[in-house]
Amino acid sequence: MTRPPDGAPWPTAATRPLGVLGWPVRHSLSPVIHNAALREQGIDLVYLALPVHPEDLPTVVRTLGMLEAVGVNVTVPHKQAVVALCDHLTDEARLIGAVNTLAWTSDGLLGDNTDAVGLRDAMTADAPLQDGERFVILGTGGAARAAAVAVGRLAGRCTIVGRRPDAAEELARLAVASGAATATGIDIVSDELPGVVAGAKVIVNATPLGMQGETLAAPFHHLGPGQVAYDLIYHPPQTPFLRSAAERGANTHNGLGMLVAQAAASYRRWTGREAPLGTMSAAAVRALSHPPPAA
Ligand code: NAP
Repeated sequence: MTRPPDGAPWPTAATRPLGVLGWPVRHSLSPVIHNAALREQGIDLVYLALPVHPEDLPTVVRTLGMLEAVGVNVTVPHKQAVVALCDHLTDEARLIGAVNTLAWTSDGLLGDNTDAVGLRDAMTADAPLQDGERFVILGTGGAARAAAVAVGRLAGRCTIVGRRPDAAEELARLAVASGAATATGIDIVSDELPGVVAGAKVIVNATPLGMQGETLAAPFHHLGPGQVAYDLIYHPPQTPFLRSAAERGANTHNGLGMLVAQAAASYRRWTGREAPLGTMSAAAVRALSHPPPAA
């Protein structure tokens, strides 16, 4: 899988595909992130965004295997539906109940989920964390599931906050199954919320609130020094949640670290190589400041 030297024709007949399947998918940063890393490491793979209507998912996955694809990422809305198409699942994919990475192997089609390991890696790179650290996760959707597993893997103590208490409690059980020391789910309107947020080390926004400038519930805007505000949103780079946390002296991080770290974990699986994180991150930042022309 080594590329021809610089200046020689490329791609060639030997170049094999990687990609991301989604609907829609033309906004994805994954092609620039992966292609920058593949270019730097001289790996003879090319990564494309592939729009796939939900009805066509089984056909496309089967066809990609026939075309000798090495692997693909899978994004909204296919992450759950693709589970049934896999021959094997990693523990992470089974726990989360969703797949974001497919790899064609000699044993068949493997489904993995690198979102949780990506968030765990990003959080540990960004802040010193100890066993038993207290986390709050806002949200109960797909990203919050990955966050619950990430906190479990960090042996944290965790409170999941959602507007559907039953969903929050289900995610708390997932966190415990993943290794969390303790986990509870609470309603976003609970009287406990201010105390829970004030007592946490890391507060994760795993909702889309903030993408359009929305603010979170009041307790999420009262973080202070010693606390870490983690927003999974990366566009815009600073949400009202992160801005108020930074103004009050908390440590703040957007979702770019998770995006790059989950990509790096997929890249490792496909290429067997450690990903160049700095190159991936720089490519993502550059792409965010140069959005592609409208299709
Ligand atoms: P999702 O599955 O649609 O879940 C969204 C969650 O937000 C749900 O729990 C939803 O509650 C909750 N929510 C929405 N509006 C709310 C409101 N007004 N009040 C309280 N809760 C509200 O979406 P997702 O895939 O988890 O994505 C969530 C965010 O994470 C998005 O901004 C996405 O871009 C980001 N993300 C980032 C990365 C990364 O690599 N950085 C990866 C994945 C996702 P209900 O369930 O009650 O509707």
